[in-house]
Amino acid sequence: MGSQAHLGNVVVLGLGRTGEAVARYLAGLLGSRVDSVTLYGGADSERGPRVEGLEAAGVLVVTGTEDVTGSYDLAVASPGIPVDAPFFRSAAACSAEVVGEPELAFRESPERWVAITGTNGKTTTTSLATHLLRAGGLAAESVGNIGTPPVEALDARADGTWFVAELSSFQLATTRLFRPRVAVLLNVTPDHLEWHHTMEAYAAAKERAFANLGAGELAVVSVDDEWCRAVAQRCEGRGLRTCRLSVTSEPDGPCAAFLRDGELVVRLDGVEHALVAASDLKIFGLHNAENALAASAVALELGVAEKDVRSGLVSFAPIEHRIEPAGEVGGVRYVNDSKATNTDSVEKALTAFERGSIVVLLGGHDKMTDLSSLAAAVCERCRAAVCFGAAGERIAAALEAARSETGAALEVVRAPHLREAFDAAVATARPGETVLLSPACSSFDEFSNMAERGRLFKDLVRALAAGEGR
Ligand code: ADP
Repeated sequence: MGSQAHLGNVVVLGLGRTGEAVARYLAGLLGSRVDSVTLYGGADSERGPRVEGLEAAGVLVVTGTEDVTGSYDLAVASPGIPVDAPFFRSAAACSAEVVGEPELAFRESPERWVAITGTNGKTTTTSLATHLLRAGGLAAESVGNIGTPPVEALDARADGTWFVAELSSFQLATTRLFRPRVAVLLNVTPDHLEWHHTMEAYAAAKERAFANLGAGELAVVSVDDEWCRAVAQRCEGRGLRTCRLSVTSEPDGPCAAFLRDGELVVRLDGVEHALVAASDLKIFGLHNAENALAASAVALELGVAEKDVRSGLVSFAPIEHRIEPAGEVGGVRYVNDSKATNTDSVEKALTAFERGSIVVLLGGHDKMTDLSSLAAAVCERCRAAVCFGAAGERIAAALEAARSETGAALEVVRAPHLREAFDAAVATARPGETVLLSPACSSFDEFSNMAERGRLFKDLVRALAAGEGR
């Protein structure tokens, strides 16, 4: 399968995993559909074994500059490069067209795509949708933000394989012809404003997932937040089949996905599929019911039988770092939700546990987002909060302010880093309670990424269980 279009002279921007994957893919087409591949690594890039490897494959690599020169038929930008950055603009000035990596992969192999986007829940929904498709006997692969750039999966893609693509707003911002068979928008809440600058631009990038959908396709759109509701209305206004997704109401219309008496229900073209009780899922919380509804709508739309959706739903286990059970010591449960890097995801995570029984660990790199709604939710649902890292003091102050406003009994503890925060949580937690790492911040003040942070948390739990070092 795939396109036979002549791509001409192509320039690739960025030397991360995506840039390297794109350059390697294009290098494989040199002499047939590609005339030349030039890669600009960016201002901070340096020569090294990766550059040498690419050069050996026939790629011309330029490091240490973002000033793109030459003349290109196509530029492919890595998702870390904002569309208004000088690097992007300089490439646009000397290229006929600039696209992102998923757009290139789509053009190369445009059949059978599912797109999943949203501020939170993308990875969970993407893996669950892939799991459900496989439960129904379909070949499916999770690609995109979740791990493998789609371009890297192209060569091995067998006919008939579904690409379930987790797409960030950055990746969607640079799509043009991208047209998935089903596109899902889970939620839009404030995040990544350093890239997009405004909520309008951020939401508009996510809405691009639906831009090219036509009558035969399905838009699955939450109606639980105002940004998504507006998108759903515009999809319906265009006459698209729009499945309204909600965990707080029962939307009407021929297509909808919602909870009825705690049971997951998906209605497609007027036909209702009652699936399983949300309490039968191994992934907890209302937000995960939302993810499960979205993934079920995808699977049913693509022809998976109800019974296979049901069995897939109940067999799906939590993914690492997403409300992942990390053990129980002395009657206290430990849960790793290191992936919760913004306030909304923490507010959702708190709903997965009994009110008043949570000791939450909050902190990390401070994204300077507003903390009032988070602080109210923590006061309402947690018994204690341990605040750590660069954002720790600001969070602690916000919690104390909310506590005096609401009269909540929340205990607020400060600790310098995750290790000390963990010890403080252990000291305060009582049997029956849950110590939850759901930090509301990215991890870069202390760790190289959220996975490293989550692994340290799990190591600390293991050490505690083994009675080591204490
Ligand atoms: P993403 O890939 O969009 O970052 P994940 O599936 O990795 O999303 O989940 C990240 C975190 O966001 C989870 O740990 C959880 O706390 C929260 N979350 C998951 N699903 C949702 C949802 N549908 N709505 C809000 N928050 C969610």
